[in-house]
Amino acid sequence: MKSFPTTLLNGYRNFMSGRYVAERERYRVLADQGQKPHTLVIACCDSRAAPETIFDAGPGELFVVRNVANMVPPYEPDGQYHSTSAALEFAVQALRVKDIIVMGHGRCGGIGAALDPNAEPLSPGDFIGKWMGLVRTAAEQIQGNSVMTTTERQTALERISIRNSIANLRTFPCVKILEERGKIQIHGAWFDIANGELWVMDPQSKDFVRLEA
Ligand SMILES: [Zn+2]
Repeated sequence: MKSFPTTLLNGYRNFMSGRYVAERERYRVLADQGQKPHTLVIACCDSRAAPETIFDAGPGELFVVRNVANMVPPYEPDGQYHSTSAALEFAVQALRVKDIIVMGHGRCGGIGAALDPNAEPLSPGDFIGKWMGLVRTAAEQIQGNSVMTTTERQTALERISIRNSIANLRTFPCVKILEERGKIQIHGAWFDIANGELWVMDPQSKDFVRLEA
């Protein structure tokens, strides 16, 4: 397999001689019995913010959806292609996860693009531009705020977007009902990739509070 990236081949060999050996039995049980992850994480595609790494999770623990800027769209049963909604539906209705975490992160490129009034589409489809429309209203409000620095605007929208996604999560009837019955807990988190800090949203104030490591 000459064309397969060497870095990945080496990584796979390390996995097979290291972690897989340690977790062989766990993989076998998961294969026989199926997965039963306790948590759904909605995270960004960003290569620096992998939930399994940050939460030190093993196989079968986290059901992870990653998309640009870790967003949840509103409930729209319109027959279109909704990959995040499909994953959410499966996690909630079939896997019966107990917790849902929307995890944003610092220096998010998607959020940066939403705040850039001069951002040009990367391709004729402008898929990112359309997708980031989910936070357009908040982005426009923040763009016009000249008392904030660029970094402050970026962090603010990263966190506002998490709250926005949590509000959208609650537009899904299955999520709303299970949360009201106390079967599901919804959380917000924000990972600062520069220093490894994890900030968690306070359910009452909606502010983000840094976790003690
Ligand atoms: Zn991101």
